[in-house]
Amino acid sequence: MAGKSLYINGAWTESTGTESIDVINSATEVVIDSVPGGTVEDVDKAANAAAAAFPEWSARPREERAELIAAIGAGLAERQEELANLITQELGMPLSMTGPIQVGLAIGAFNGAAKAVSTFEWESELRNSLIVREPIGVIAAITPWNYPLFQIALKVAPALVAGCTVVLKPSEVVPLNAYVLAEVIDKVGLPAGVFNLVSGVGPVVGEAIASHPKVDMVSFTGSTRAGKRVMELASASLKRVSLELGGKSANILLDDADFASAVPAGLFGCFMNSGQTCSALTRMLVPRDRLAEVEELALAAAGGFTPGDPFDASRQLGPLVSEVQRERVRTYINKGIEEGAKLLCGGPDAPEGLDKGYYVQQTIFSDVRPDMTIAQEEIFGPVLSIIPYDSEAEAIEIANGTPYGLAGAVWSGDTERAENVARQLRTGQVDINGAAFNPEAPFGGYKQSGMGRERGLYGLEEFLEVKAVQR
Ligand code: NDP
Repeated sequence: MAGKSLYINGAWTESTGTESIDVINSATEVVIDSVPGGTVEDVDKAANAAAAAFPEWSARPREERAELIAAIGAGLAERQEELANLITQELGMPLSMTGPIQVGLAIGAFNGAAKAVSTFEWESELRNSLIVREPIGVIAAITPWNYPLFQIALKVAPALVAGCTVVLKPSEVVPLNAYVLAEVIDKVGLPAGVFNLVSGVGPVVGEAIASHPKVDMVSFTGSTRAGKRVMELASASLKRVSLELGGKSANILLDDADFASAVPAGLFGCFMNSGQTCSALTRMLVPRDRLAEVEELALAAAGGFTPGDPFDASRQLGPLVSEVQRERVRTYINKGIEEGAKLLCGGPDAPEGLDKGYYVQQTIFSDVRPDMTIAQEEIFGPVLSIIPYDSEAEAIEIANGTPYGLAGAVWSGDTERAENVARQLRTGQVDINGAAFNPEAPFGGYKQSGMGRERGLYGLEEFLEVKAVQR
């Protein structure tokens, strides 16, 4: 083990086990560090510490908690460059985007949660009742690798502001950024036990915290498969559960859209972070009689997404996160070819000249049928499916025709028409005509994309119980 310890009860603590997990640079396949593989006993210590810290932390004036959370945001900002470098190595997202997206959004989440203290309605009156919002208790945060620090921040920041205490299990694949966060938190001087970090694998550490009797809520982001398992475990003691899961989001180009803008923007919405985004716009739905025009525009834009060294400023696409992920994506590309989709560009082979690193070619399929595997299942790689439709009603039906319901997009020359379509999509978010990202807008899924909402005031509400006091 390269000297890393777990962070439990305000101190760096040796794991009770001997396992360690290697962290690999996804562009070079070289081991860059390792973290402890925590145990059930480690989780027990952390959950007990979090439970012991809860009474004092939840009783603190909210403004004091907010000051400490803002200090964490400032501490991360001081280390923004280092964090961006680290996440680019662990994950493979190009450095030009890691700074603002991966780290910038995480800092924003801490600052936003600190500010929310003064705008959130903590108490209200209802006839003879006083309605009070109170922290849920000990939160288990289980997070994925694709936006590692941001996903952690979306849970830890509002949970701490709310007055909850936290046990975090970050992704085993991209865990180093979570260690920097723990160092920042240690330096800020959060009371012992308020934040605890136990790295390790899902089936051991994840399952132990999802079932621990002292954990009151599990806030999970990850795959639908693991989310179902977490919910099953949490149900034994009826813990609160929030699940941010996968997606298969549709990008509907209506016939009056500006195709010259919509198609390249759609490629970015699919390929960003090598397609490893839960809300990636992986299905582009286009009028059948405009398919040839869309294919031409897509091919012209595809060259801008040629994968390469994530430290090269000209790149928009780096490698995938891991060998497992690369193989999974290649299998899906082969499946698309087998099922008869038209391969416009890309394919399952490694991109030219990139034999090292977990690279996959930017791949576009056209004439994809809605029932094909590549149009139904989450691929989590740089693979776009262009699906033709014959009417607006059919486009909506196709968009809603997967088990997922996380995000979506509509392009039209008529905003009212686009809004009308957006209202009919069974998803937690919809962007019209490439609208700006709003980090405070509620984010979460319908159907098997999960339950609950993160970000902004909605994200804070997730960590609060409601009490009615009659007078
Ligand atoms: P996983 O579900 O494999 O992992 C997510 C986290 O859960 C990891 O920390 C993982 O541990 C842990 N885990 C795995 N199995 C269990 C288990 N049995 N019990 C408890 N915890 C477990 O997802 P990925 O990390 O592969 O992330 C990709 C998925 O996340 C995609 O499906 C994506 O759509 C979704 N996602 C959703 C978002 C949203 O907001 N809706 C945002 C980002 C991603 P380990 O590290 O050992 O794997």
